[in-house]
Amino acid sequence: LPRIVVAGNGQLGQMLQQAGAPMQLKVMPVEPNQDIEVALHADDVITVEVEHWPDTVTGLQLKNHPNFRNASALHAVIDRQRQKSLLDQLQVPTAPWVDLDSEASLTEKLESLGERAVVKRRRGGYDGRGQWRWQRGDEVEAEWAETCIAEAMIPFSHEVSLVGARNAKGEKVFYPLTRNWHENGILRASVAGLDVPQEQQDSAEEWLSRIMDDQNYIGVMAMECFVVDGKLLVNELAPRVHNSGHWTQEGATISQFELHLRALAELPLIKPEIKGVSVMYNLLGRTWKTEWLGIDGVHVHWYGKSLRPGRKVGHVNINRPTLAQLEESLKALKELVDDEDRIAFDWSLEQL
Ligand code: ATP
Ligand code: MG
Ligand code: MG
Repeated sequence: LPRIVVAGNGQLGQMLQQAGAPMQLKVMPVEPNQDIEVALHADDVITVEVEHWPDTVTGLQLKNHPNFRNASALHAVIDRQRQKSLLDQLQVPTAPWVDLDSEASLTEKLESLGERAVVKRRRGGYDGRGQWRWQRGDEVEAEWAETCIAEAMIPFSHEVSLVGARNAKGEKVFYPLTRNWHENGILRASVAGLDVPQEQQDSAEEWLSRIMDDQNYIGVMAMECFVVDGKLLVNELAPRVHNSGHWTQEGATISQFELHLRALAELPLIKPEIKGVSVMYNLLGRTWKTEWLGIDGVHVHWYGKSLRPGRKVGHVNINRPTLAQLEESLKALKELVDDEDRIAFDWSLEQL
């Protein structure tokens, strides 16, 4: 088996490593933002957990390796202007958007989107950073010109995401749509294994297939969507394993991390089977308690990072065979978490 080298050394690389361990498939996370030569082998396969990094010695070494995967998809996705253009070109429906390319016409362009818009920095934003809410009458910021796009504010009923994988032969597999709750742009919780309208699942799979095929993509890609009147609009793409797929660690026969490795290492890609129902809850700037482990179906994933307010430091998967059992575990865990986190359990319980 080839060694899989991951650009980035956060939790995603760590969880890829864990997924490779049972097969002794070596996964080596590497920090790309440093100026040292790393020892890469000719047959290593290079993947990413971050979307971009500066042209450092290590960074260039990773990008220039002959087995660096998905350069084209990364190029398209790291700039929201290019990403939205790609989706338009592939006729994948998204929120209406405009390029804010000159200061003079900013207001006019924003007004063309309706009463309210979301201004997003073209590069570097994640977890809702680099975004502003605008409404008719608000001042515009000069810095938005040239560095941002704007999207119409979508009155969605909820958000879902599709996680899928494609291998070099063009074979593709998908998980069922996951329902996600974001607060201030950050994913708080996901629910998976609920009934999903077949029409939504089919359109989402068709669009993500189109995107992955167009880019000759290898590995896992996630597609975030808004649900409006029962129909999907694509929000954005993530060319990597994704937070909304973390439930698959215990909630599916093959996790998103193993699927990604299988696709990269040219191992068989088979459709994961779903085990019962799952909730994933992010630990944002808070630690966990050992007594949580006394609740059926609770699995703690702690990333070993230092605590900072709001920082993603771990997640908890709660996986049970039935809805009634999941409800029971969620209610029990809700009593043991910090007060500020109970809201994530209320949201999850409402979805069941
Ligand atoms: P991620 O951490 O997922 O990469 P991000 O910072 O790239 O997030 P987006 O996914 O673009 O940001 O937006 C974050 C959240 O903000 C969305 O999940 C959604 O809740 C809200 N949002 C973004 N765009 C819109 C929109 N056009 N209309 C309504 N809500 C939006
Ligand atoms: Mg994003
Ligand atoms: Mg997002």
